[in-house]
Amino acid sequence: MRLTKLFTKTRKEVPADEAAHNAKLLIQAGFVHKVMAGVYAYTPLGLRVLENIKQIIREEMNTIGGQELIMTSLQPKELWERTGRWDDKTVDVWFKSKLQDDTEVGFAWSHEEPIMDMLSEYVVSYKDLPVSVYQFQTKMRNELRAKSGIMRGREFLMKDLYSLHATEEDMNKYYDKVSQAYSRIFDRLGIGDETFVTFAAGGAFTKYSHEFQTICDAGEDVLYISKDKKVAVNEEVLQDASKEIGIDKSELTPVKSAEVGNIFKFGTEKARSMGITYTDKAGNQQPIYLASYGIGVTRVMGVIAEKMCDDRGLVWPENIAPAQVYIARLGDDEEVVKVADNLYEELQKAGIETLYDDRDVRPGEKFADADLIGIPHRVVVSPKTVKEDLFEHKKRTNKDAKLVNKKELFKTLACE
Ligand code: ATP
Ligand code: MG
Repeated sequence: MRLTKLFTKTRKEVPADEAAHNAKLLIQAGFVHKVMAGVYAYTPLGLRVLENIKQIIREEMNTIGGQELIMTSLQPKELWERTGRWDDKTVDVWFKSKLQDDTEVGFAWSHEEPIMDMLSEYVVSYKDLPVSVYQFQTKMRNELRAKSGIMRGREFLMKDLYSLHATEEDMNKYYDKVSQAYSRIFDRLGIGDETFVTFAAGGAFTKYSHEFQTICDAGEDVLYISKDKKVAVNEEVLQDASKEIGIDKSELTPVKSAEVGNIFKFGTEKARSMGITYTDKAGNQQPIYLASYGIGVTRVMGVIAEKMCDDRGLVWPENIAPAQVYIARLGDDEEVVKVADNLYEELQKAGIETLYDDRDVRPGEKFADADLIGIPHRVVVSPKTVKEDLFEHKKRTNKDAKLVNKKELFKTLACE
């Protein structure tokens, strides 16, 4: 992408109406646009990051047999009344509206009930089980407070996976598989070392659910962790859970954290309240087991922005960066333009995403923007480098730049 063509611009002033660091940075660098509190649009740069995060999640969901689909944002009231979750006292984040004939509808804050209802049409016998489906879908929640930037939206992107099983044993086995897939996802996103599988308040079926919590000062939760023993407990169940896992509170250290994922078992609760069954081998009707697994995709992006930055801007890990290379072209001498244009084309041909700063602005501004946007590799093309038939390469995470020839440059970029 040529920067002269990109409609977004970086801005020097910190947005005054944002408290959260992630939102300040992402707005300044041109990744998100604030529409209102808790509601953000994603610009081309922001969308690329989201798509990269989604792709990692998608690959891991497909590996464990998840089938991708997409459910609707409008949901019928009757469906949620069947499980008692239409009531605002039970679910306090509903957005609701009415059709022109006064029929009430809800905006999707979750999809357990709609998924169960839809799958009940297809899952009839034990032969149809197990099945797992997932989607990337915009969830709407009327959150009381939305002050954490994209980490807590009133409209946000979630990946939700649902698995249906004939037996508890089968559900438990799959649940562990999903948990492992989640760990691989957070490893690949570069936050694996700081993300803990955490004992949290239970689903309907088990005493505890498991949250994936990432250590983060801007997070809203408090975790008690033991890095040696690799355990973490959410503050809200600390008394209980520490007793249960036989670890004394004094061995655990409190840290602030953000919930990036949550997995829990509903067991047969949903099937029973919705009257959904399958026919077993003996011809009897049995309730279906359900487990549900979420990842806050936009929240993950916010957490990464919070954690991977410095005083100059964002520092995206390579596998989710909106581009791998930032070409800073200094000046518009004919030769310089030719070399920079060629480099841009060759990088694109090699499948290396590139931001090409072809703007007529000062070098300092180009360097500042390369850092603010947080592209992993910066390559300078200037009259000096062209004269020497070299390129100046610098990693976002390094202080010093190096002069390299084209072959060396491509080797560095392709290997990493
Ligand atoms: P929280 O406790 O933060 O309100 P939750 O427990 O209500 O979250 P879940 O229903 O478990 O959230 O949703 C699955 C995942 O979606 C969460 O683990 C989180 O990563 C993400 N998420 C939930 N609410 C929001 C929100 N308002 N904005 C962004 N992401 C969210
Ligand atoms: Mg949760």
